[in-house]
Amino acid sequence: MEGYLKEFRPPHRILMGPGPSEVHPRVLQAMTAPLLGHMDPEFFSVMQGVVDMLRLVFQTSNELTLPLSGTGTAGMEAALCNMLEPQDTVVIAVNGFFGTRMIDIATRCGAQVHTVSYPWGRPVEPEPLEKELRKHSKVKAVGVVHGETSTGILSPLPELANVTHNYGALFIADAVTPLGGHEVALDQWDVDVCYSATQKCLGAPPGMSPISLGPRATEVLRSRKSLVQSLYLNLVDLETYWHRSHVYHHTTPISMVYALREALRRLVEEGLENRFQRHARNAAALRGGLEALGLKLFADPKYQLNPLTTVLVPEGVDDARVRSRLLLEFNIEIGGGLGELQGRAWRIGLMGDSCTETNVFALLSALERILPREGYEVGRGVSMAAAQQVLADYDSEGSSAR
Ligand code: PLP
Repeated sequence: MEGYLKEFRPPHRILMGPGPSEVHPRVLQAMTAPLLGHMDPEFFSVMQGVVDMLRLVFQTSNELTLPLSGTGTAGMEAALCNMLEPQDTVVIAVNGFFGTRMIDIATRCGAQVHTVSYPWGRPVEPEPLEKELRKHSKVKAVGVVHGETSTGILSPLPELANVTHNYGALFIADAVTPLGGHEVALDQWDVDVCYSATQKCLGAPPGMSPISLGPRATEVLRSRKSLVQSLYLNLVDLETYWHRSHVYHHTTPISMVYALREALRRLVEEGLENRFQRHARNAAALRGGLEALGLKLFADPKYQLNPLTTVLVPEGVDDARVRSRLLLEFNIEIGGGLGELQGRAWRIGLMGDSCTETNVFALLSALERILPREGYEVGRGVSMAAAQQVLADYDSEGSSAR
């Protein structure tokens, strides 16, 4: 029989790459619910629940908060093309692969794009940004990636938003990886536009991109002189469909909205703070274990993104062969390096439902089995003992703090 006529049964992978992360059975189950039409009043109440929970996760009261159809790149594209008009000036901070993607999109919007570059592995810091802002008379917006998934670095959004506002510009933040795994507090941090994606710490499949616009950004959207260049991602019409008269714009991916709803319900049940703690605790254990193997972590520990750890491939070890063995022999997916780090680093995700102690130990023990075959000798059980110790320390510090 032709292969495509057979039922497809994917192997059960442990997803520890830079996303997608594992999806809980409750979320998968939600996707099997009967379809409603996208103009059904029952579905409108599902949409309302999703928007309410998104506001909670983004820590905002922004009215214009909704999930776009599309992955994280749709959020990036929507943020930039709804805020920018041709000839507007924008400053993009780049400290990794995804900042570069922002430049590409802003250029396609016809904006005058200026870049502030930071070395990969460093956060976006306020001083160089301020220096760049001083050079230009009218900057419309600044774009920053909160958690660079190419390096595992978290940048300090509140300080960066503050500098940006001192120069009268809008602050646009990419929270594709951190949202649901690290604090993202739009109102408190005064972020004007923020977008994310469902397949990382939110715990749903790839396919939607939550976005939220604050009052300044909403005002900019309403006072545009030109039409938003993307019909599909224009937030004027999407706001009407999601928040006002529900006029048809495009056919909403209904099952993805169900999935996002269930993923957000799980997040609310766990509690935001508990969720952040779980990501911090398991990431600390993973890092402790990797260091015990003698591996070198790439990110400055002060700016480490908990859901994504980047570790350098040791001299003489074949990057692709190790990843392939992890996948084929242990069913574990991790990511390879992107851009400058291609072939030089592994990117290990602990995001959403993938962020468990079980997964930390599964990966460490698999590495202990695989690395010696690459000629990289490691002591048996050392990484697991180190991870255990980190967890024990973490828990005793936590309980003494309580
Ligand atoms: N921004 C960041 C920081 C990302 O990590 C990613 C994807 O990994 C994107 C944007 C693009 O998202 P997607 O691949 O879902 O389109």
